[in-house]
Amino acid sequence: MTTHNRVDHSNDNAEDFPSAASPPQVMDKSRPRSDNMAANKVECNACPVLCQITEGRTGACDRYANVSGVLTRVDPLVLMQRISAEPATTEDQEPDALFVTGVGAGTTYPDYKPAPFIVASKVRGIDMVTVVTEGIFSYCSFKVKIDTDRYLGPERASIRHKGEEVGHVTTAEYGSQMLSLGGVHHLTGSTKKEGRITCDMMMALGNKQAVELEIEGGAKLIVQAGRAPIVDGVEEKHMRVGCGSAAVGMFAKQWFGHVDEVVVVDDHITGVLSEHQAGRCLDMPPSGIKMKGRKSTPGRYFQVANPGNGWGGTDIADPLEIIDGFDAEVARAGMRLLMTSTTGEHAAYFVLDAQLQPVAAEMPAAVQKVVDKIIENCEPSLSSVLFLAGAGGSLRAGVTDNPVWLTNSIKQAITNVTCGGAHAYVWAGGGITVMVDVLRMPDQSFGYVPTPAIVAPIEFTMRLDDYERLGGHVDRVRALDDVVSTERSRVVQWTAESGPWPLLQKPMLG
Ligand code: SF4
Repeated sequence: MTTHNRVDHSNDNAEDFPSAASPPQVMDKSRPRSDNMAANKVECNACPVLCQITEGRTGACDRYANVSGVLTRVDPLVLMQRISAEPATTEDQEPDALFVTGVGAGTTYPDYKPAPFIVASKVRGIDMVTVVTEGIFSYCSFKVKIDTDRYLGPERASIRHKGEEVGHVTTAEYGSQMLSLGGVHHLTGSTKKEGRITCDMMMALGNKQAVELEIEGGAKLIVQAGRAPIVDGVEEKHMRVGCGSAAVGMFAKQWFGHVDEVVVVDDHITGVLSEHQAGRCLDMPPSGIKMKGRKSTPGRYFQVANPGNGWGGTDIADPLEIIDGFDAEVARAGMRLLMTSTTGEHAAYFVLDAQLQPVAAEMPAAVQKVVDKIIENCEPSLSSVLFLAGAGGSLRAGVTDNPVWLTNSIKQAITNVTCGGAHAYVWAGGGITVMVDVLRMPDQSFGYVPTPAIVAPIEFTMRLDDYERLGGHVDRVRALDDVVSTERSRVVQWTAESGPWPLLQKPMLG
């Protein structure tokens, strides 16, 4: 029987090999592989697909190639380098420190085999170990935060990419709409086509590329990590300064004396200055304004209009639509009314005529100045993309013979988890469910296998003595210098945006 356990990461010719253009041959599971594999092929055993790869070609995921008969990881191993701006005057400062990330590390399969790299290093005089792999994740998704008050679609609405369902709209957050994309049910629980398109979309999103999405009953979006979202063809500029009530609270004092009433139009809470506690504290007299919608508490109104892409995330184009008139006993001719959205993008100034009808008028400079301040206080609108994945399964066996000990050691802050060197938030409760901002990870961190599942880097760092106690694969530990000098690698610079330097986690170091 021919098996190819040797994986070469160091062959410089790998980049010369064709990739997706050459269709990969995937082993026919109905036949014993050893009997049917041609002599010029190698079998890749890095995932359950077990591609038989012809010399000069890559496997189905483009991550492995047959280079002169040797199974070779095509992409270089990514090393993260931390260059200290300070001289090494304290033990915390270790100029030019290197960290081996999981990007390009490859995968071992089945999982009881040790992870591809188990790397020793020394930090502050302490012997450390980092277990490095590219995890294959079926249970994974992306949580996307889109800074906009525009209506993207109903909560729980399906999201489609290239016609296939790939996620759904989830609970809105303050100033942002949230999407859940990918996940095991779209990857493997539906049709093959849905799984493939979901996987493509997830890989692109994780690799910081733009992805087109369509929300059922809602907007068409272009989303890219770290970029402004494009909603129905319009690039979003600002997220709202706060809800209508918050905006009234923030700017009441600055409006005082320049207007008799302010309405801040918002899909969530529309604020009315004279009724709001902020107006009361300033002793503002009532204006007699009658608002549509449902009154929540004084000066705060829900549902003044439907959600949409008009003023303040509502569907209105004319702000006067949400006013039900003025109380003739209270209001008076000449009263000054400002209406603005929560971003200041829409604003209009009115003066009541003798019939107590609002008549548009030129906005005084002092009022415009406060509207401008709303705009100034709105943060740029961005799309944030967080990768969420469960590493609590069999992947742990590549780290230790006692998988639950790894889980426990993470909960006890004995082991630090990073993804591509970026700090990963670990969810409480069972398993190892990690969440990481893709912008903190090196470029091209994500790959796939055609099962389909997402491939993503993950590293577990701990003290060597703890690794021994966890039942780790200590016989496979390699010195950092050995890895650096023998592996084909690409160096990326660590920046503070990636989170703490992965080898300097205080709880881990004690
Ligand atoms: S899909 Fe990729 S990792 Fe899996 S067997 Fe084929 S080449 Fe190897």
